[in-house]
Amino acid sequence: MKFLVQRQTLKTQQHLYLVRTCSDIIVDLQGAGPGGLGLAIALKKMGFNNITVYEREAGINSRSQGYSMTLHEHGGYAFIKRLDIQDIIIPVSTTPLFKAWDGTNNSKLYQQAIPSNRRIVRAQLRGCLIDIAREMQIDLRWNSPVEGFREDDEDNLYVTVHGIEERVDLLIAADGISSKIRSQLFGDEPPNVQYVGPAAKIKRTEETEHLFEDPDIIDSLGLHSNYGYCLFFSHHALSDEIFWSMSFPASEFPSYHEKTREDWLQIAKSKEETFKSPAHHLIRATRVEDLEEALILKDRDPRPLSTAGRLCQTKTGRVTCLGDAAHAMIPFRGAGGNNALLDAWKLSELLDSLKAENWSRDDLSRILVEYETEMHKRGQDAIISSRDNAKLFTTQSYLRSTARNVIMRGVGLWSQLTS
Ligand SMILES: Cc1cc2nc3c(=O)[nH]c(=O)nc-3n(C[C@H](O)[C@H](O)[C@H](O)COP(=O)(O)OP(=O)(O)OC[C@H]3O[C@@H](n4cnc5c(N)ncnc54)[C@H](O)[C@@H]3O)c2cc1C
Repeated sequence: MKFLVQRQTLKTQQHLYLVRTCSDIIVDLQGAGPGGLGLAIALKKMGFNNITVYEREAGINSRSQGYSMTLHEHGGYAFIKRLDIQDIIIPVSTTPLFKAWDGTNNSKLYQQAIPSNRRIVRAQLRGCLIDIAREMQIDLRWNSPVEGFREDDEDNLYVTVHGIEERVDLLIAADGISSKIRSQLFGDEPPNVQYVGPAAKIKRTEETEHLFEDPDIIDSLGLHSNYGYCLFFSHHALSDEIFWSMSFPASEFPSYHEKTREDWLQIAKSKEETFKSPAHHLIRATRVEDLEEALILKDRDPRPLSTAGRLCQTKTGRVTCLGDAAHAMIPFRGAGGNNALLDAWKLSELLDSLKAENWSRDDLSRILVEYETEMHKRGQDAIISSRDNAKLFTTQSYLRSTARNVIMRGVGLWSQLTS
């Protein structure tokens, strides 16, 4: 409490400076996910010294974030390199080897190693970013859910945390799909639940050893398409666990939230025979204690920009959002985290232009128009193409699945010939 009051006094004084550099800009970031942390690190490197990251969770291990993410060469990984922190990410990540099967007849459609991408467990990525943020002395506050914001008639913007208001220059909501700031802006629209299903993590034991020796599984990301559903698995060499999940259209299980782990395992086992190896073996080896929280894949419909070119249209124009708070998508293109990092990159580059200037609040809102225009288009495209991919991987149509198989085989062959 005392600290907050002191900080408030300091901020008020800073507004009196005649020549203002970017280090004066008070930036509040809501959410310590990959997007929020990436942006905080970028801004700090650029000389912004007044950044606070508020995180709702009590600490890094507050919830299970077991799945891994692929950072793409032209997506999130490019930003990691731009931040010059790849040396910290490389030892805890691997080169993804992607494989796809038509699960109905066990034909392998595609196999490709992509050395320029990195595969990393989400919690590891977050852990690395948090370590870097700490080292850079970024003010990261755990257990601090942002409750909302307020704007007054004097062009002031305030953020409320623990019931206390703080005045800020810029508020960036990076607080994921259930963003509090987003709800304040657009109302409590529930996200679309698109796919649901069981998810499991298999550890190496005497009984499961054979899975860890299967060349189709080790070090691989695999997708088995089937009629109406699909199974995705990944073996991450560094954690030596196999994660798998099945995705069914949510419309098939309207009471999905009532299902127990036992129910989900039974559903998976009922499909075991419809898959061939290795998906078949993964389901067979899974026990109820291996089941994780059920998979509930959600996204949001893209929202139109205002006539002023803004997604987050507010009185001051100095509130914006990034990552899942802006454009939540289902992970069928592995694009959500990459786009969160691309948002952070775009916004940090635009804010960098303030470095040399005697900035004004209008500069901030002008920058946000440019940022949101690019971010909105990219995010919208990613939401739609992720849905298209999901439909393709779970299609019930023989014709569509045949066309998909031909295309994937062609792409696989082409990448083998050109690599
Ligand atoms: C199974 C699965 C697999 C995936 N695979 C991939 C992949 O391969 N590649 C890829 O790019 N993406 C993938 N994704 C998507 C990716 O995980 C997300 O898009 C990414 O984490 C979004 O990052 P973010 O920083 O925007 O939000 P988040 O990671 O959701 O972080 C938001 C943070 O804000 C905090 N927060 C929430 N509310 C508040 C509040 N009121 N105040 C303060 N803090 C708050 C949260 O605790 C959290 O720490 C996958 C997702 C799933 C579910």
